[in-house]
Amino acid sequence: MKRRIATKTLKWAEPLPPLLPVRTVKQLLLCAILLVMPIRSPVLANRPRSFSSSSLADQPQVRTALDWFTKNLKWVDDEQVKLTEIPAPSFQEAKRAEAVRDILAAEGLAIHTDKIGNVIGELPGSDEEVVVLAAHLDTVFPAGTEIKVRREGGRLVAPGISDNGTGLAGLLAVARAIQTAKIKPRRTILFAANVGEEGEGNLRGMRALIDAYRTKLRAVIVLDGSGTDHVTTKALASRRLEVLITGPGGHSWSDFGMPNPINALVRASVRFINTKVPAAPRTTFNLGQIEGGTSVNSIPYEAKLKVDLRSENEDEIARLESSLRDCVAAGVKDEMDNARERNRGKLEWKINQIGSRPGGELPPDSPLLAALRSADEYVGNQSRVERSSTDANIPLSLGIEAIALGAGGSGGGAHSLQEWYEPAGRDMGLKRVLLTLLGAAGLAPEKGPS
Ligand SMILES: [Zn+2]
Repeated sequence: MKRRIATKTLKWAEPLPPLLPVRTVKQLLLCAILLVMPIRSPVLANRPRSFSSSSLADQPQVRTALDWFTKNLKWVDDEQVKLTEIPAPSFQEAKRAEAVRDILAAEGLAIHTDKIGNVIGELPGSDEEVVVLAAHLDTVFPAGTEIKVRREGGRLVAPGISDNGTGLAGLLAVARAIQTAKIKPRRTILFAANVGEEGEGNLRGMRALIDAYRTKLRAVIVLDGSGTDHVTTKALASRRLEVLITGPGGHSWSDFGMPNPINALVRASVRFINTKVPAAPRTTFNLGQIEGGTSVNSIPYEAKLKVDLRSENEDEIARLESSLRDCVAAGVKDEMDNARERNRGKLEWKINQIGSRPGGELPPDSPLLAALRSADEYVGNQSRVERSSTDANIPLSLGIEAIALGAGGSGGGAHSLQEWYEPAGRDMGLKRVLLTLLGAAGLAPEKGPS
């Protein structure tokens, strides 16, 4: 941009005749006017990169939207409490989705609910491209968990209040601020409350959104939890596997010597936990859940193990998965080889994938990241780049620009019964989200007289 201005200055400054004061003044004036006019390159006009927050905030409508947050914090708190108190375990988000749908519909957005239960409110832009602002509906808490919100001092306390009550309330607040201010974006904005982010939901809601809009989609901003201290630009890859070993089973005394699935699983597990993983790229495994057997005096017919694998590099995950397969095969073979009565029954094994989150990274020169940085600067915030596992994994893995942000305020105890949220400072977080979103979507060009 700087170089363009310099070129333009020279072009207009050079032909100035030195000794004609009136013309000189006129030309100087023209020169000054040209210098302060925004320079429009046809390429940039057709392909909005990101828009700086300070130039956005110069627009009266954007200013109205920014002010809206400061004046309506109570409304945002109330919506957050209302939504948090509607149970929404993964795969059972429908009631909460309906409540979100009603609020978005009241803002005058075109609403639809897709096949798997994502609620999408559409604000049409002046061009074909699409930007998504998303917040997940689901929680990790099973049906029946006490989720009534308690107020303790300045805090709201309830399971799910921050993750993702804050994100959902932020989504609604940004939609309402934009609609109240009558902002018309250049790119279409989709306000999406999506299902299936947590656990075995396996990001299914975001996968469906990306499938549906992939060709036009230019950026995804995910609101997950609270805070303004971070921006997730790197997607942590993970894979979740279930090992299943089965056999005929029998009596602990009379059938002793038959191959035992739990023995085989233990032999396999001991081999696997000796697998070496690198410190960089950071790579982890966890034997998280183990079950099987029916009683202490029976040879079990089944043994199961759930394993979580994570890495900053997906090749390491593939390597760990193949190591797990080798270890299970070897553990089963050991057990068969050592079973005195191996002719009386054979062990079978298999490994099922029960979850997979692909990795990916936002390039450092990404326009979406530039929009976030500009918003941070405007609101006086500093944030660090983080690697994490969120709905942004899906777009990032496909090379679509995406970030995940907290929606302001502060919180703690995520995924625990003591989860809390404190709204102090929320308006700064919401302004940051709005400016980042508009930085990515742009404003529709004003219509001249036709
Ligand atoms: Zn979350």
